[in-house]
Amino acid sequence: MPTLLGLNTDELRALAQREGQAAYRGDQIATWLYKYGVDSFSLMNNLPEPFRARLEQSHQVGRAHVITEQRSKDGTVKLLLGLHDGATVETVGLPYADRMSCCVSTQVGCPIGCVFCATGLSGFARNLTAGEMVGQVLAVQEAAEVKAMASNRSNRIDHVTFMGMGEPLLNYEATLKAAHLLNREVGIAMRHLTISTAGLVPEIRRLAQEQLQLTLAVSLHAPTDELRSQLMPGMTTWSVAEIIEACHEYVMWTRRRVTFEYCLLDGINDGVAAAQELAHILHGLNCHANLISFNPIGGSRYRPPPRERVTAFREVLESAGIQVTQRVERGSDIDAACGQLRQRADGTGLVSP
Ligand code: SF4
Repeated sequence: MPTLLGLNTDELRALAQREGQAAYRGDQIATWLYKYGVDSFSLMNNLPEPFRARLEQSHQVGRAHVITEQRSKDGTVKLLLGLHDGATVETVGLPYADRMSCCVSTQVGCPIGCVFCATGLSGFARNLTAGEMVGQVLAVQEAAEVKAMASNRSNRIDHVTFMGMGEPLLNYEATLKAAHLLNREVGIAMRHLTISTAGLVPEIRRLAQEQLQLTLAVSLHAPTDELRSQLMPGMTTWSVAEIIEACHEYVMWTRRRVTFEYCLLDGINDGVAAAQELAHILHGLNCHANLISFNPIGGSRYRPPPRERVTAFREVLESAGIQVTQRVERGSDIDAACGQLRQRADGTGLVSP
């Protein structure tokens, strides 16, 4: 049965008119879906009863059901969601002092197979639809609101990163549609949306041409092709140099600063020489580097570096004039690393990379 979630206001208006209703009924449905986040036709009480009944026969709202909900002491909320076909995906809500962010999955599993990632080790099943992506934000919003009510404070999601399970640019059309839905229907500023990629050069160029004000985050994780192919075996098609060149194009078309994600693995990619090489290839590019200490996953042979190696790596980049942030570890008391909760729920355990 087709779902309503994933349709924008124009598409919902057209649907209402096909059903013999006035176009504004589509606006009303959009408000119920995206502003109020309802998951049942019966709650859409300003729609005529016969119209609601017909919709119920022909469509489903399309919200996933929550299988597992984990809450960290630091406020991080992690949901495992069950989709209509039995597939499961993870989504995470991250409250900060100044914002509430949601990390969205774009695929069930991931074909890139990064050796340090629980999702990458679990294989790939299918792409998610735009509605399934937006549904994750609405589900986290709902979970956050319960907490907000309890603590008597507002907890609206105002930042979304397409950085959960999957490679967003391998699911380009649906990811872009989800970004537009979050912007126009849910009301999240385009500048507060981030699309991450492992470095798909043609899609980075295509995204640049869209000239959207969203942030591009490139998961680089290694400054050389040799090391990168070891850590990200599904990403050998494009060289580091080609990826950096595409990022220059992205900056030229959008005037937006590119973020480079770099997961530090003890003794693998965290040395001073790697930092110097990274500084060299990023020279002259409007960018910033986000350093992430590896979040250990069960069975992995990789470890996070000691703090002094992270500091030394950071100092090399900063002394080369590159802005650096360090991702603060969140949800360390729950299955916070991408793919962990799903694997635990599946009972599959984890394969050692
Ligand atoms: S890190 Fe990202 S691109 Fe790599 S396997 Fe995991 S989800 Fe896929």
